[in-house]
Amino acid sequence: MNDALNNIIVPVLYLLSAVLFIFGLKGLTRVRSARRGNALAALAMLIAIVTTLLDLGMVDYQWIIAGLIVGGLIGAIAAIKVEMTAMPEMVALFNGFGGGASALVALSIVWKELVEPAYAGSAADALGGASAITAFLSILIGSITLSGSFVAFLKLSGKIGGQPTLLPARHVINSLLFLVCATAGIYIGFFSTEPSSMITGALVATIISLILGVLMVIPIGGADMPVIISFLNSLSGLAAAMTGFVLSNNVLIISGALVGASGLILTQIMCVAMNRTLGNVLFSGFGQEGGSADAGEYGTVRSYSPEEAAMVLETVESLVIVPGYGLAVAQAQHTVKELADLLQKRGVKVSYAIHPVAGRMPGHMNVLLAEADVPYEQLIEMDTINPEFKTTDAVLVVGANDVVNPAAEKDPSSPIAGMPVLQVWEAQTVMMIKRSLSPGFAGIKNELFEYDNNMMVFGDAKKVLQEIVSEVKSLIAAA
Ligand code: NDP
Repeated sequence: MNDALNNIIVPVLYLLSAVLFIFGLKGLTRVRSARRGNALAALAMLIAIVTTLLDLGMVDYQWIIAGLIVGGLIGAIAAIKVEMTAMPEMVALFNGFGGGASALVALSIVWKELVEPAYAGSAADALGGASAITAFLSILIGSITLSGSFVAFLKLSGKIGGQPTLLPARHVINSLLFLVCATAGIYIGFFSTEPSSMITGALVATIISLILGVLMVIPIGGADMPVIISFLNSLSGLAAAMTGFVLSNNVLIISGALVGASGLILTQIMCVAMNRTLGNVLFSGFGQEGGSADAGEYGTVRSYSPEEAAMVLETVESLVIVPGYGLAVAQAQHTVKELADLLQKRGVKVSYAIHPVAGRMPGHMNVLLAEADVPYEQLIEMDTINPEFKTTDAVLVVGANDVVNPAAEKDPSSPIAGMPVLQVWEAQTVMMIKRSLSPGFAGIKNELFEYDNNMMVFGDAKKVLQEIVSEVKSLIAAA
């Protein structure tokens, strides 16, 4: 029975789990299939956990059950309580714990295989050369992910300042620390035969890696944190894959590699959408939240009341709504849907233009609008909608700024030059709802505020939209 379990049942279940992970990820690439993808990935995880419990039997089940209950409860409460706008920092914490778990597993292997049995040889002799290297990489990458993710969490949640902290000679310091860490790794892996110095070396490598994680993330501005979180997510996957090699656990190798690869692809997509490189995000100290542009930089800006905006909306035949970060801050998704429904009932063609980096995390706007039950067919991606603005009567920009900034196309010296943007200015009328002339994430002036066909409607997005909705209702009633 044991042979059948080890040679047939466990490998087949692991294979099934890995295949389900792949289909789950595939499902997540489309809004329509995302729920099914999520459910498949959750089922894959359940199969992987149960199979591992059947297979290993190296830890007391009571510890595993206690861990499942405590971890599951904390995770469930955190997920229920978290605000949509705080989702990126929650993902940061999850990544950090994933990296930390991988590092702890690798440390426990060093303890269990070498120190506890007082093994009289090197780690490479005991574990095999490849496993010794992957155990070290798991400690290195896992610890960097843990501390880096915590810094990202603290910056995003405003518990520490979001400004980039640029230490003098930081690249030199980081390179030296990395060298010391690598030397400790080579020493414990191949040269030390003394268990107590092995565990000391492993702990030194862990502490230095934790410091490296902090030093890697503090020079990065708070507004660039979503890119870094995606990158750290990729690292947490790599750390898990490394741990999979140490434990000879195929499903951990496959799922870790999937997380590593998909995290890296997402990071690249975010960088391309901002016209930046990952190197620029990691090393340039860019990404200060709220920049230098101020109201004084603007010439004539036309400000309109919600009532006047409602009167314009009364007359249009086509409307494109552009949601941005401010929509998430104001939690105005339900009100915007209410307005769209009202106008649609009057025969207005309404669609939503989705910019790939609108908001503060990929898919931010899709998630918000899905929460308000906006039909998927109405969400139009940037490349599809851009040519349609020329024939659109009105565009309602709700709390978006950088993603509609014409400077990206028209000013080669702009920090966002080359970033693909929604060409809303091509429409007959643009209405921008925001609280002030303050800049968005990039901290730069937006000349769209001064355009002749642009109307600024100042105020909190939810409040303004509520006023527009009630005004449109009374206009309809009066008609
Ligand atoms: P922006 O950050 O450019 O602008 C958001 C605007 O919302 C602000 O100008 C602000 O103006 C307004 N706002 C804030 N709160 C409210 C409120 N309660 N009511 C009304 N308006 C409000 O957002 P975009 O979505 O246009 O662009 C996203 C930016 O974030 C891009 O530069 C992108 O590169 C960057 N980014 C996005 C990532 C992603 O994955 N999505 C990742 C990393 C960066 P005011 O204060 O005047 O109200």
